[in-house]
Amino acid sequence: MDYQFAPHIASIAIDGADARFPVRRIYCIGRNYADHAKEMGSSVDRANPIFFCKPADAVVADGGKIPYPPGTTDLHHEVEMVVALQSGGSNIAAASALKHVFGYAVGLDLTRRDLQAKAKEKGLPWDTAKAFDRSAPISALRPARKVGHPLRGLLELEINGQPRQQGDIAEMIFSVPQIIHELSKLFELAAGDLIFTGTPAGVGPLARGDWFRARLEGIAELHGAIV
Ligand code: MN
Repeated sequence: MDYQFAPHIASIAIDGADARFPVRRIYCIGRNYADHAKEMGSSVDRANPIFFCKPADAVVADGGKIPYPPGTTDLHHEVEMVVALQSGGSNIAAASALKHVFGYAVGLDLTRRDLQAKAKEKGLPWDTAKAFDRSAPISALRPARKVGHPLRGLLELEINGQPRQQGDIAEMIFSVPQIIHELSKLFELAAGDLIFTGTPAGVGPLARGDWFRARLEGIAELHGAIV
């Protein structure tokens, strides 16, 4: 028999399609832009990428109103390109990694910066800083079969109409194929996985009443608000 309390499967919209993309896991890479690592007082380790996860149901659709999360007084925005996988595996070679990519989106890696700072100081896990409810607003996906695999493009975030973050995905330290390669050495990747690919400089606080507009040039746009 089926239980009545089976969990809901999180999904995100696909641009130009009725079908939705079911989300299996959300992976994130940290410190993937040198100017952001610098503003956080961190160094970049080109041999050892930093990965962390968010739960699949942390996704929030375009236009979402996100309640200011509990347990923090320093909610931060991190605008990022997001990669969606249509297949996966283990030990994927960088040279063949892009065939696993379904499409691209723009998202925010919302962060409880105060809790992250405490965790870093004490050498504790980042879960409460990164993996909280509604911490992953994300735009509709643009399928790679329509937009290709972007190697460059402006990644920007406006808060209340004012520019806050701006970078170019060409500045990523680990490219999309390299990220897939590195992640697949640690986890068996699969269809439905999302990967947040890191944020450029300019991260900062969000307050109740703020609205945001994130954009990945030629690919995707995301709107939302903190309430
Ligand atoms: Mn991030």
